Amino acid sequence: MASLGSQGPRADRERIRYYVILGFSMRQRDPLTRLERSRQMGLVKCKDTRPEIAVRKMLWALGYRYRLHPNDVPGRPDIVFKALRKAIFVHGCFWHRHVGCLRTRTPKTRVRFWSKKFEENVARDKSTRARLARSGWRVLVIWECMSEKSTWLQAKLTTFLGERS
Ligand SMILES: [Zn+2]
Repeated sequence: MASLGSQGPRADRERIRYYVILGFSMRQRDPLTRLERSRQMGLVKCKDTRPEIAVRKMLWALGYRYRLHPNDVPGRPDIVFKALRKAIFVHGCFWHRHVGCLRTRTPKTRVRFWSKKFEENVARDKSTRARLARSGWRVLVIWECMSEKSTWLQAKLTTFLGERS
């Protein structure tokens, strides 16, 4: 037991040094704070955002049936009406940069990181809409802040999709 004991602290020291190196290099590679990271992951992974659910509920109540994020449609739009060849994107104002909207604030730190991120998002949205248009899709964008105005939303959706008989 005594011989094991003499090796123990040394092994621990090695392990600690290893973790320190690992921790340092991970921090170096990740310029985001934990909060920013989780927000960013939210953009990529979270499909059932509050505005999206509001739009889906309204569509359902109006009698429209749809598909969500289908893999076989360019850009995997949030809500898709295949037979009509129409697609809806429900965009968060902050991430997708709703022009003139109060929610389109810009964080005061890591400005360069954020501007790059936002530019990429806006460019991606634009090219996705262009790709869809080229293959004959009609596209409607519903901004998060507008999804909360139900009268407006109902009118917008019925105009885009056509009245249900
Ligand atoms: Zn907005």
